[in-house]
Parts: sequence; structure tokens; C-alpha cells
Amino acid sequence: MSQTVHALDRARAPGREAGQPSRAEVEAAVRTMIRWTGEDPERDGLIETPARVTRAFEEFFAGYRENPSEILEKTFEEIEGYDEMIVLRDIRFESHCEHHMAPIIGRAWVAYIPNGRVVGISKLARVVDVYARRLQIQEKMTAQIANTIDHVLRPQGVGVIIKATHHCMTTRGVHKPGSDLVTSRMLGCFRDNALTRQEFLGVAK
Ligand SMILES: [Zn+2]
Repeated sequence: MSQTVHALDRARAPGREAGQPSRAEVEAAVRTMIRWTGEDPERDGLIETPARVTRAFEEFFAGYRENPSEILEKTFEEIEGYDEMIVLRDIRFESHCEHHMAPIIGRAWVAYIPNGRVVGISKLARVVDVYARRLQIQEKMTAQIANTIDHVLRPQGVGVIIKATHHCMTTRGVHKPGSDLVTSRMLGCFRDNALTRQEFLGVAK
């Protein structure tokens, strides 16, 4: 990947792109929300809160600064013809829903069948994290992970399953703790071959 793309990615860091709000503006917005709850943002316990919230947001939404395709670009080709399923199970992630900015806490199972080259397994977890650290809906995140792996690695097939609880549903609204949402995206042989899909679903239980 070219230097130009790296430069563009860095430019997407919060507050660093022309026209993006400054850190001071974000902190002022947090102070407004604190005041709106009925609290006094100037009292001792809250005085540092806007700065802390802004730093937390930087961490929660760090995924906008990274290019997931780039993470997958370094692959290994000396795999002795290995062409069986590779599954990274139970990848814990934290995300935020784009409707309420409330936490989505979940786990992802990511599988693919290589077509001549494989990627370091930690890279699969990093791709999950990059998409998680953006404002998300779970269905979109599931598709983005599968599509990116499919696009960059060109494997025989990809499967992604995500199970997550949505705090906008467990701590507010309908208040249904204990319920989780399961989404999946199957591409290539995971979509076309029932046995492959079954094998993955069996591993992902
Ligand atoms: Zn929500």
C-alpha cells in the first residue's frame, strides 16, 4: 500500500482533518450534555470529565484512523498447500451502536479457507477491532469484516459470525438483559457448500 494511503488514514484522526471540531469544541459539547442532565460541570468531581470523555471517545472510535485492508496485506504463501478451514474463535470486541452511541459488547468468529496464502492470525482479530471501533450496527460490521477478508485475501470462502449484546436494548428502551443478537455473513464456499457452513457453525457454538 502506498504512502499516500497512510497519509490519508492519518488525516482521518479525530480533530485533525480540516473542518473537524477541535478538542476544545468536543469538551465544550460534553460540558453542555452534563449541564443538560441537571449537573454542574464546574464541580470538583466533574471538572476533568469533559477531557476524559474526549480521550475515551478517541479510543472508542480509533477505528476511523486505520485501514483494515492494509492490515491484511502482508500474507504468507509457504503453506504447504494447506487448504482447510482456518477459524479464529471467540474474538471479544467492544463497539458502539450508531443509533444511541451505546456499547455493543460481543464476540466474533472469523473463518476462511485459503487459496494459496494465509494471513497472521492476530490480523484477523485486528480487522474485527478496527470495524468495532467505529459507530456500528452489528449487521453492517459482520458484512464489513467478511467483505474485507474476501476482497484482500481472495480465499475460497469466508464466514463471520457475531454474537453481541446491545446496551441500548439491555440498559434502556425495552430493558432486556440477557438477550443477544446473532448475525452471520457467508461468502464463497461457506455460502455455496452446506458441509463447509456446517463445519464452521459447529466450531462456532
Ligand atoms: Zn442502539
